[in-house]
Amino acid sequence: MNPDTIPQNRPLTDSFGRHVSYLRISVTDRCDLRCRYCMSEKMQFLPRSEILSFEEIDQIATAFIDRGVRKIRLSGGEPLVRRGVLDLVDMLGRHLDSGNLDELTMTTNASRLAEFAERLVDAGVRRVNVSLDTLDSETFRYITRWGDLDKTLQGIAAAKSAGLKVKINMVGLKGLNDDQIVPMMRWCADQGHDLTLIETMPLGQIDDDRQDRYLPLDSVQRQLENQFSLNPLAERTGGPARYWQVEQLGLKLGLITPLTNNFCDGCNRVRITVSGKIYMCLGHDDNLDLRTALRKGGREALDALLDRAMLMKPKRHDFAIGSDSRPSVERHMSVTGG
Ligand code: SAM
Ligand code: SF4
Repeated sequence: MNPDTIPQNRPLTDSFGRHVSYLRISVTDRCDLRCRYCMSEKMQFLPRSEILSFEEIDQIATAFIDRGVRKIRLSGGEPLVRRGVLDLVDMLGRHLDSGNLDELTMTTNASRLAEFAERLVDAGVRRVNVSLDTLDSETFRYITRWGDLDKTLQGIAAAKSAGLKVKINMVGLKGLNDDQIVPMMRWCADQGHDLTLIETMPLGQIDDDRQDRYLPLDSVQRQLENQFSLNPLAERTGGPARYWQVEQLGLKLGLITPLTNNFCDGCNRVRITVSGKIYMCLGHDDNLDLRTALRKGGREALDALLDRAMLMKPKRHDFAIGSDSRPSVERHMSVTGG
């Protein structure tokens, strides 16, 4: 096609008619914790020479925003361990000021949130997702391998007092924290946080066998329904989460059940790794190298690759936790940031 005839800022629509309006950016693959379901203890991280600069992340994010992305989530690894990450948040925050972006959010383990919460608010961030799989300090240390629950709770408290709305993400782990789901629901309700339970997904090789810890959330939901009234909420975010209002607690509860349910029909998101690869689906390995396109061909080459990415976005993931211990996808969740 003659480049002159291609409309600028054409929307990002895939071959199934789904419009991409949500971008997740992994700003580092590194982390200060090693949650057992996410990483192995010894991880090979990308050399620094491979990672995008903040300016490059900003250029890529801006191309997406020009083409209709309205929401960006920064994730990782642990986004707050990347040095100077608040400079990136400030850069991206200008799109909130201009009205071209509706929301800039972050997913964090909160270990450093106490230090950064106020500056996040200053940059325009209004909500954060925090991973917290248990309120028991021993279990917390075991799951994260060396994490300190107090630091995480301090980070969450600082976020709340800075005015950030907090959603807690809790990965359900059979025999590890399944007895702590109700206490977590009560704590979140007391604190005014939303809570989302997540099924462990077969992403990346870890030291444990995921099959051993896999907790299907449809059975958790049935148990909760014996104890609480769960009223379904219409709210959908284009991802695999479904939401309920837990009447007795006044709690908004989300369930992310990619294994027991599939909600790919309304998928509105793509993911960028810190080395500039775009992944069109969390459950597939297909990717394209935006970094090379940007460095060699600038914005035009980047836009052309985004068009190609839209044609490659698959209809649905094909995750399965099988009888063998191999992951469905080789890369860890920390590469694409959840
Ligand atoms: N470090 C940050 C954190 O933990 O919130 C952000 C990155 S972490 C990869 C993003 C989310 O993915 C967290 O809520 C974490 O619990 C979840 N996660 C990591 N590995 C997972 C897996 N294999 N299956 C399901 N959720 C996973
Ligand atoms: Fe780090 Fe988050 Fe993965 Fe835990 S879940 S190891 S905090 S990236």
